[in-house]
Amino acid sequence: MVVRMACTLGFSVWQIRRAAALVAALALWIVLTSGGVKTATAAAANCPGNPDALGTSRVLTVDMSTPRVGRKHFPTTLPLTDKEIVLTFDDGPLHGPTNRILDTLKAECVRATFFLLGRMTVKAPDLARRELAEGHTVAHHSYSHPPLGEMKPDKAMIDIDLGFSADDTALYGKASSAPRTPFFRFPGFVSSQVLLDRLEARNIVVFGADVWASDWDPMTPSDQLHLVLSRIRHSHGGILLLHDTKQQTAAMLPDFLRALKAEGFKVVHVVPRH
Ligand SMILES: [Zn+2]
Repeated sequence: MVVRMACTLGFSVWQIRRAAALVAALALWIVLTSGGVKTATAAAANCPGNPDALGTSRVLTVDMSTPRVGRKHFPTTLPLTDKEIVLTFDDGPLHGPTNRILDTLKAECVRATFFLLGRMTVKAPDLARRELAEGHTVAHHSYSHPPLGEMKPDKAMIDIDLGFSADDTALYGKASSAPRTPFFRFPGFVSSQVLLDRLEARNIVVFGADVWASDWDPMTPSDQLHLVLSRIRHSHGGILLLHDTKQQTAAMLPDFLRALKAEGFKVVHVVPRH
């Protein structure tokens, strides 16, 4: 009887242990599965319709601790790590290529910076507002793209300020004496020390670039893609200068963003400190 009871008891304990192990395994499976679902859902939520999107890896706040950035033109650049890239587009907005570029960036959930020309903004204010609405940084590139550094400083500043006010009026409905996003890029990178000093005194960060796409030279989208990829591989990232007015750039951008993803580059979105 004692043996039978022990035997029965022993069997029951084994059964309980086995059941407990099964329950634990089931619980682990549920946790792992729900975790996986959660991760996939988060990725899909981060970029609706494209769980394999390149995305934007981080946001970098840029202020007067780095008043001039871009090694092509200045001694220093942004504090980026290896294979981090900042996408910048100049000279727009322009109906056609800018729309196409915005569509591509949206599909990949990538945030970029647009340096607007005031005279283009007044012709396509809806596009400037779309850039802003879709989370991009919208910055400034003068009103009429003159060689500012070769002009009298006062005259140059008039063109710069006209650009600020044209852009901000389109973007926000009004302009004040200081641009809402205090980022500026000189047309053709033609600057002068006096203009750099004046912008610095107004707490405006001047962007150069680390890498040029040279998309001002006409070429096929395929040649453009190979050129920019080879330069980015060589530089390991940095501030890349593109032009959203160029069809060859708009055409190669989807393949370029796919290649960045495949090769492990990370997109950094630069924003002003507010
Ligand atoms: Zn330009």
